[in-house]
Amino acid sequence: MLKENLAQVEKNIEAACKKAGRDRSEVTLVAVSKTKPVSMLQEIYDEGIRDFGENKVQEIEAKYPELPKDIRWHMIGHLQRNKVKHVIDKACLIHSVDSYRLAEEINIQAKKKNLVIPILVEVNIADEESKFGISKEDAMELVKQISELENLRIQGLMTIAPFVEDPEENRTYFRGIKQLSVDIASKNIDNVSMNVLSMGMTGDYMVAIEEGATIVRVGTGIFGARNYNK
Ligand SMILES: *Cc1c(COP(=O)(O)O)cnc(C)c1O
Repeated sequence: MLKENLAQVEKNIEAACKKAGRDRSEVTLVAVSKTKPVSMLQEIYDEGIRDFGENKVQEIEAKYPELPKDIRWHMIGHLQRNKVKHVIDKACLIHSVDSYRLAEEINIQAKKKNLVIPILVEVNIADEESKFGISKEDAMELVKQISELENLRIQGLMTIAPFVEDPEENRTYFRGIKQLSVDIASKNIDNVSMNVLSMGMTGDYMVAIEEGATIVRVGTGIFGARNYNK
């Protein structure tokens, strides 16, 4: 079943790329495997997937030793400062940096381990109260502040769009994030590139790709519905 799901997602990604006149290689599929057992991750790994997304540090820590070492782990969930030290040497990219305090802690822990950590700044594009992320208005200032931290590299922006029935409703938000990334890039800030746009989930990744996503984060579409009661 996972194999068929993945094949369908891949087909959709190719179709969206084609529609937007983009090359398939411009978009990375991150398989969001939170709550799913390592056996399912292995199944997808065997199909060629190397990018996995988790939203809890504990879950990355638990799965990391169980699976092949060439997996690229993406930290996509809200990150507490006291957990930073457990994840910075395992994650290839932290998508969810939304405050200077968090960035500072990542910088401190990165220095201790002599690492330079790639991060994205999470933007709450629709200003939803239920969501983490810096407001669009404050994003530029946060990027400037974080750019001063030596052991971090800002690579772009991440957003979680609202949950909607019709993905077209999110097009304007994806477009807004893309524009914001272009505005930030035009400032030529040291240590900052805007090459990565992490946006689009199961319900709306095709629209996100049409609007410039370079990473889509797909969970349900590959692994099926999540059961949080287990
Ligand atoms: C769970 C999650 C996803 C995947 O959501 P689906 O709708 O299952 O594709 C993507 N991004 C983040 C940040 C998530 O927490």
